[in-house]
Amino acid sequence: MEDNRRALRKSHTFVSRSEKIDMTKYIFVTGGVTSSLGKGIIAASLAKLLQSRGLNVSIQKFDPYINVDPGTLNPYEHGECYVTNDGAETDLDLGHYERFLSMPTSRANNVTTGKIYQTVIEKERAGDFLGKTVQVIPHITDEIKRRMRLMEEDNNYDVVITEIGGTVGDIESLPYLEAIRQLRRDVGQDNAIVIHLTLIPYLSAAKELKTKPTQHSVKELLMTGIQPDILVCRTEHPLPKDLRDKLALFCNVESSAVIEAIDADTIYDVPLLMLKEKLDKIVLKKLNLKVKNDPDLTAWKTFLGKLKNPTKEVSIALVGKYNELPDAYKSIYESFVHAGAVNECKVRVVPIHSESLMDHVEEKLKGFDGILVAPGFGERGIIGKIKAITYVRENNIPFFGICLGMQCAVVEYAKNVLGWTEAASTEVNANTPYPVINLMEDQKSITTKGGTMRLGAYNCKISKPSLAYKIYGKVNIEERHRHRYEFNNDYLEQLEAAGLKATGLNPDNGLVEIIELPSHPFFFGVQFHPELKSTVENPHPIFVNFVSAALQHKLEKKA
Ligand code: GLN
Repeated sequence: MEDNRRALRKSHTFVSRSEKIDMTKYIFVTGGVTSSLGKGIIAASLAKLLQSRGLNVSIQKFDPYINVDPGTLNPYEHGECYVTNDGAETDLDLGHYERFLSMPTSRANNVTTGKIYQTVIEKERAGDFLGKTVQVIPHITDEIKRRMRLMEEDNNYDVVITEIGGTVGDIESLPYLEAIRQLRRDVGQDNAIVIHLTLIPYLSAAKELKTKPTQHSVKELLMTGIQPDILVCRTEHPLPKDLRDKLALFCNVESSAVIEAIDADTIYDVPLLMLKEKLDKIVLKKLNLKVKNDPDLTAWKTFLGKLKNPTKEVSIALVGKYNELPDAYKSIYESFVHAGAVNECKVRVVPIHSESLMDHVEEKLKGFDGILVAPGFGERGIIGKIKAITYVRENNIPFFGICLGMQCAVVEYAKNVLGWTEAASTEVNANTPYPVINLMEDQKSITTKGGTMRLGAYNCKISKPSLAYKIYGKVNIEERHRHRYEFNNDYLEQLEAAGLKATGLNPDNGLVEIIELPSHPFFFGVQFHPELKSTVENPHPIFVNFVSAALQHKLEKKA
């Protein structure tokens, strides 16, 4: 079986590449010293460099926490929940992977300890272990290794990068590190390497960069049987040669394998910084991969050029309820970065807490060129969102509502244009006489949380003429979802007669996916999450058009 797979892989792939690669190579990225060093960005940047040399690369994230997936985690805990095409609720790092690689991830790309244990316990209950004592080693580590190699089976990847969440030394990380140690032994050292990302703190009193925390972190890693191959060192100041040599000596790596990761202006600079540091070259060398292609980063550089040289600027208010926490709306912020670059326009996104919009709405919003009402759950902040929508609707200010934002736009229209003052979503008022947004029929019997919403990619058919068609330039689209409530089609006719049009519908069940107001320059609401599909090389057309509508509005305001 194993040999068949190898033979198959050898025979039918890699024709476009300079060298045949007969097995998937593994790169593990671990973190040391502190959390939040940006392992996801380093992993995604390395993946981008390898991809730009013609390799077929994927990235996955293993999270040591015990939740089965991040779907039930509060955004305060773990930032945005990212949804894949196949409907998995995942860690936000998968968003970075997609934005950098322009390749969709899937359920297999994010694994948590909860998922690992769930699988092992289910196997135990099914009698798969034949009465054996089920233990961390080998049962949990076997399951981790199986999942680490899952993508190799299906996809013919040349390289799989696996990011291990958390920090070396955490109790929860131990089974993952043990699995890496075993996997390297299984596949051979030059088929699986470890990159350790650490911090080199700068002591301003001593005016010195300090290597000791990294030395300790590597020691901790060595205690698990893992000698890192490459050190990537986060630092606020350039790492001089003598310090690199010192780190190399104490941590038992080559000097050229000590990579400086200096703070960058934007995460999108990191691939180029890593290229300059030759991270890709050292990785290829360690993995014994002979790739003749030089990195082709033309599109990436064009994007960066535009991003860094904007000729204009717009201000967008992001009305939501987690505004002190940019990670909660990560993909939205990044989509504006992509869309801004296309428009050669700096997009200043200002978070506005919806609860602060109970009064003086005009005063608080009048300086903005466009308003985005964010996705969300529950009752908190709804009134402020609706007030913001009334203001933009009445004042012809570009509006973009995502998921809950779109649902609020429907409620607002029902209340203030149709005069149904008690209209609401049943998520907010279960007894409203006008449930214009209602719990989806197949959600009514669901009581459990976690993976039970309407999740992942669904089709949408766009009608013409419409703003939606102008934006997408096609009729059939597919977008990702994460919701329980929907536009109540009992009210569709009356809302449409009053001017609010449903211009995108699910072709299978008629679910309203897009609403717009033809009488308004840009009033657009979507039940799906376009921010999950915007990438550097494929910026999302709704964001691109929203930014250009905001620019237009700004020009008209001035005139
Ligand atoms: N709370 C709404 C629903 O479940 C909207 C969800 C969202 O914005 N992601 O339908």
